[in-house]
Amino acid sequence: MTRKITMNTPLVEMDGDEMTRIIWQKIKDILLLPYLDLNTEYYDLGLEEREKTKDRVTEDAANAIKKYGVGVKCATITPNEERVKEYNLTQMYKSPNGTIRAILDGTVFRAPIPVKGVEPFLPAWRKSITIARHAYGDVYKNTEDIVPAGGKAELLITLPDGTEKRHLIHEYVGTDGIVQGTHNTDESIFSFARACMNYAISTRQDLWFGAKDTISKTYDRRFRDIFEEVYASEFKGKFATIGIEYFYSLIDDVIARVIRSDGGFIWACKNYDGDVMSDMIATAYGSLAMMTSVLVSPDGYYEYEAAHGTVQRHYYRHLEGKPTSTNSVASIYAWSGALRKRGELDGNAGLVDFAGKLELASLKTIEDGVMTGDLFLLSNLKKKQEVDTETFLLEVGQRLSAIL
Ligand code: NAP
Ligand code: MG
Repeated sequence: MTRKITMNTPLVEMDGDEMTRIIWQKIKDILLLPYLDLNTEYYDLGLEEREKTKDRVTEDAANAIKKYGVGVKCATITPNEERVKEYNLTQMYKSPNGTIRAILDGTVFRAPIPVKGVEPFLPAWRKSITIARHAYGDVYKNTEDIVPAGGKAELLITLPDGTEKRHLIHEYVGTDGIVQGTHNTDESIFSFARACMNYAISTRQDLWFGAKDTISKTYDRRFRDIFEEVYASEFKGKFATIGIEYFYSLIDDVIARVIRSDGGFIWACKNYDGDVMSDMIATAYGSLAMMTSVLVSPDGYYEYEAAHGTVQRHYYRHLEGKPTSTNSVASIYAWSGALRKRGELDGNAGLVDFAGKLELASLKTIEDGVMTGDLFLLSNLKKKQEVDTETFLLEVGQRLSAIL
């Protein structure tokens, strides 16, 4: 390794909080700066800076991703009442991920990182299953209420010309009950469908989608129809050219097929399905610490991060001066994912190659039996040792410099 790899376009770098903030700096010092002329535009999304700027820094970071196209983000605290006290906040700031997603729009793709020695609960799942969650509407933006016995609930739609359409939902005879209204928009579903199909092409994997259109003949049917329309009119040819498929089935059938599959595809999920199934997938593959996440906007902007949070419990140990064994793999993959995408967009083969080797070195370390505590508990390797947070990164660094 003689010369450092250069980068033409800056990457939007978003720093974060607690243990992941510590790891963030170590990844840069040990794995990136020795080999890369790291070109980033830095935004500190740590809670103190968000307070100082009244959260403008989060918006600025999102707009920078719009300007440059690719960002990489450290995990951040989403404040709750305890955090407001702990950090003396003047407001309960919104989740930075929510703010960024609102500005960029788009779909979150989450994929486990398979590694030898940590077997998925379903041994057939050799390749990773990527979940694409539609992150708008349905039960997450619902209106709900209690209806007393003797009352009735109706669905009322006011058309643009003022005409009213009414549907009886239920008459509550002899018993109290509940009612819930949910919505979605064609615009959001179209953009979800396009994001999934573009991502399928960019990762060369089949795309599966399932909804409950046999029961929900208008609502879920609309999702199915929009996906079919986008596929037929914009993607069919491109999918055929690279030999991937789009596959729709009833959600029940999709789940049965997922269980029997060997992985290696993207599973598009409605909002609730994606929320629930992504936890199932993460657990089935072993650990949330081995899950990557990327937000892909319909305009082709990418934001990479780890799927886990700031690992608060480990941070408090760290503050007490005790050793920690926090897994940095998902954060390393956030960097490698972003660097690879930046390299692809800029035609920078050296950068793409570096990203691949960074991932290889990380996996090699674990497969050599050197791992953090979370994986030590899961790994079935005969010879394995648990190392602390920094030692793991140093071990990855040794293997990286050997293959560069
Ligand atoms: P978390 O940070 O994901 O950690 C939950 C637990 O999972 C940890 O205590 C740890 O278990 C294990 N874990 C997660 N990542 C790990 C890693 N890299 N290495 C080893 N173990 C790991 O979730 P949380 O504690 O619920 O949330 C903490 C903060 O993160 C919250 O303030 C929340 O708002 C924020 N958060 C941010 C994001 C984001 O920025 N994308 C996402 C989720 C949560 P053990 O303690 O048992 O070892
Ligand atoms: Mg969930």
